[in-house]
Amino acid sequence: MNIPFVDLKAQYHSIRKDIDTAIENVISETAFIGGKYVKDFEAAFAELYGVKHVIACANGTDSLYIIMKMLGIGEGDEVITVANSWISSSETISQTGAKPVFVDIHPDYYSIDEKKLEAAITPRTKAIILVHLQGQMADIETIERICKEKNIHLIEDCAQSHFSEYKGVRAGLRGIAGSFSFYPGKNLGAYGDAGCIITNDDELAIKMRRYASHGALKKHQHEVEGINSRLDGLQAAILSAKLPYILKWTEQRIANAKLYDKYLSGISEIVIPQVRPDSVHTYHLYVIRAQRRDELAQYLKENGIETAVHYPIILPSLKAYEYLGTTSDQFPVAHQYQSQILSLPMYPELTEEGIKYIADTIAAFYKA
Ligand SMILES: *Cc1c(COP(=O)(O)O)cnc(C)c1O
Repeated sequence: MNIPFVDLKAQYHSIRKDIDTAIENVISETAFIGGKYVKDFEAAFAELYGVKHVIACANGTDSLYIIMKMLGIGEGDEVITVANSWISSSETISQTGAKPVFVDIHPDYYSIDEKKLEAAITPRTKAIILVHLQGQMADIETIERICKEKNIHLIEDCAQSHFSEYKGVRAGLRGIAGSFSFYPGKNLGAYGDAGCIITNDDELAIKMRRYASHGALKKHQHEVEGINSRLDGLQAAILSAKLPYILKWTEQRIANAKLYDKYLSGISEIVIPQVRPDSVHTYHLYVIRAQRRDELAQYLKENGIETAVHYPIILPSLKAYEYLGTTSDQFPVAHQYQSQILSLPMYPELTEEGIKYIADTIAAFYKA
């Protein structure tokens, strides 16, 4: 049996007519940049997500940069983020001129460890990029309280947590702004690069929209210098076509995770993902910790099962951050887990038969 890590083809075939029609419409109207399809997607996403402003932009990395830039973060400032994430969470901090400061991960839930946050705060700390990794929200309640006490901006990186919840509040709605990626493999994915920012702050929304569009809200009226971070019409129309299905797909991910939990529960050499009480984990990734991880991944590959590691090297250990001079013992949990974590295939169309095959293959590996 061959099981890919994600199967974007299966999803396309299930809604082929919607997608093909959306693409044809954009092309026949040559609405390639900005315009109606982008506006429609922003309105539809705002309505479904329950937020006042959605600002579409080119990708989820730009969205983080635009938020920080418009909050006035720059040279001489520090911004905290988590030791294990995709590099966008930290490289955008450097792009503003600020310094990234890393904090270790929670031993059970894999996002930032809220208990280790305060020790990283200095008088220069201006913000935290709170990454809700793998589809599960961090302890945003505690972190929000700390941010208020210390007068620090709370920015949410929701690239892996579309529609995730903690205590009934969705990812991206507690911070000053939330950043989303619609990279093809994300829970809501375009057919190319795409992203957006959400916020309930009217003034910040205008600034971010203006900045993302060359500093002009009206053509040729450049009030400031900005950047070119536009969502194109094709991506917007594809995202709008997919939006009616996203809650169903999210339910299917959760159901698949429950099946994994059931079939993997007897294998003592692995640890299945834990769900934080009062939260809705939307399983962008289904991450186990495994003994002899690399051998297991190889065995799965030989048996037709594709896996991945998110991420094999923690951010502070990357060559790009050598200059910070941190050591791995400053991030003991993240450092220890980087050689244990393994992301198993996860997508809505994954079948119970497939999940059972994966679980049986993992069990066979440890029995051998
Ligand atoms: C995917 C991702 C991003 C960046 O999104 P792009 O659209 O690829 O620029 C940022 N943060 C995290 C945690 C991600 O997983």
